[in-house]
Amino acid sequence: MTTVKALLAGARQRLISADIDNSTLDARLLLQEVTGLSHAEIVGSPETVIAAEQAANFEILVKRRTSAEPVSRILGKREFYGREFLVTPDVLDPRADTETLLEICLDHLAKDRPLRILDLGTGSGILALSLAVELRLATIEAVDVSEAALKVARINADKLGVAERCDVHLGNWFSGCTGTYDLIVSNPPYIETTAIAGLEPDVKNFDPLLALDGGVDGLSAYRVIARECSSYLSGEGKVAVEIGAGQQADVIAVFESHGFSCLEARQDLGGHVRALIFGVAFSD
Ligand code: GLN
Repeated sequence: MTTVKALLAGARQRLISADIDNSTLDARLLLQEVTGLSHAEIVGSPETVIAAEQAANFEILVKRRTSAEPVSRILGKREFYGREFLVTPDVLDPRADTETLLEICLDHLAKDRPLRILDLGTGSGILALSLAVELRLATIEAVDVSEAALKVARINADKLGVAERCDVHLGNWFSGCTGTYDLIVSNPPYIETTAIAGLEPDVKNFDPLLALDGGVDGLSAYRVIARECSSYLSGEGKVAVEIGAGQQADVIAVFESHGFSCLEARQDLGGHVRALIFGVAFSD
């Protein structure tokens, strides 16, 4: 017979020995999953007895976490901007940092107009679908080169009740896109190819390479987007991208070389500039 307290203490020890940060939080989230107990029940009643089968299931999940598999992948879900998204091995694990990109978009868009929005490399759909929920008049196109990722995005669109306004389709960047958009948004792959081997195991072993690899200098995707997006932007249209730490000057230079000017650069909670938004520069 074992208790909540004993299971959590044992799991924490194993996670700490495996160099896993957030051992307390992760152990609790995994225990919530197998027992169905709430956060309050776990914290408030540490002496609660846990059935042997649930305890065994908990051990299996803790073992996966000790191999660096992120909790979101073990649970198959991740919260983003207050909503729950299905996550599978086919999509990038949504990061809290990406909320910075969502927020910069929301702050630069008119809420009272029927906007057309394009999300390039949608993955699980966090950006496209959060925009659809926040902007009730908007119609969204969410594009990805991975059919497997699109399946995930479609399930998430249904779960959030926005599937009617979201066209989730296969495409390599702008292929298959027609007309113009008020916003083009993307969290593209931006890691330098040679840096991928040195990433943390929870990233390099679990996020799809396709969602990480930004080419030799990490800027390949920005070059494609900057080169092609002006053909797809409405007169007042804007383009917003997530960037990696330290990429601000390089990505701004890429967009400026295609006639854009940076309207705002916004930091994430870690203090890195994470999101840039551009408009067409005025010319004489
Ligand atoms: N934000 C991810 C990371 O830091 C990378 C995602 C991306 O390349 N868009 O690992």
